[in-house]
Amino acid sequence: MVKPRRFLKSEAALTDSLRRLAAVPRGSALVAGIGDDCAIFRPPNSREDLLFTTDLLVEDTHFRRATHRAADIGWKALARGLSDIAAMGGDPCFCLVSLALAPWCDAAWVNGFFRGLLLQAGHAGTVLAGGDLSHGATVVCDVVVCGAVPRSRALRRDGAHAGDAIYVSGALGGSALGLATGRGKAWRRHLRPEPRLALGRFLRETVRATAAMDLSDGLSLDLARLSKASGLGAEISPPPVWRGATLAQALHGGEDYELLFTAPPRTPVPAAFENIPLTRIGVMRRQNPGRVTMAGKPLVPGGYDHFLAR
Ligand SMILES: [Mg+2]
Repeated sequence: MVKPRRFLKSEAALTDSLRRLAAVPRGSALVAGIGDDCAIFRPPNSREDLLFTTDLLVEDTHFRRATHRAADIGWKALARGLSDIAAMGGDPCFCLVSLALAPWCDAAWVNGFFRGLLLQAGHAGTVLAGGDLSHGATVVCDVVVCGAVPRSRALRRDGAHAGDAIYVSGALGGSALGLATGRGKAWRRHLRPEPRLALGRFLRETVRATAAMDLSDGLSLDLARLSKASGLGAEISPPPVWRGATLAQALHGGEDYELLFTAPPRTPVPAAFENIPLTRIGVMRRQNPGRVTMAGKPLVPGGYDHFLAR
């Protein structure tokens, strides 16, 4: 993949400065803006909050023309946004897709892309409501997903309390292993992630998780984000590792799209939900916000940051 351009700031620093620039005025119907998996908008007198998320998929940053088929790219373009809706315990309503086509794209590629995207939409029970088409030097795709959740019940990153148990769904590192090897179940996992929509609803309705997010950039970085948002630290043991993957891939590899969540220590959490294991990996601690330790040692975030030299 093309190397990320060397910016002066990390993605987190850029997001922080944008949040200050785009301060939301008091009394706005925007309940949560920049900084969580989705923005939350509360229409007046509605029993539901609306969730909005947008994700870019860029040729040579997120996929390669030579190794990724059009239908897989379309599937993943939508799956990423659906995973953010899942992270908040929401139901997807519709999506919008904007696509810049590169000179090498032919009609078969475009058809394949939308076939994959609409297959994923069908699985998730959502629809394509519109978008835009243009052309560019490389393929660039942006998918907006709108979702809904009962009023004030969205699972957020900032809701964890000291003493809450930390859980992850599934096994981690599969996508990173797949990207490294280009074959087998792990490659399929990389190409066609499964947004955990039913699990997200279960965490909101039944478990009543205190905080949640999806694992898009790697556990070490994403848990640091959840901890920082909640004003706490986190202490974990090694998470479940995808068969054949390394612990480093499980800790720092991105794009697993499993859910990371917290719940009060005595909340009963089943060992699995619809055959997806739910594993307790640690506890939230009152310590430096964003600090994560594993087996007593600091776990330095090594997940994917677009703007830091790797
Ligand atoms: Mg997310």
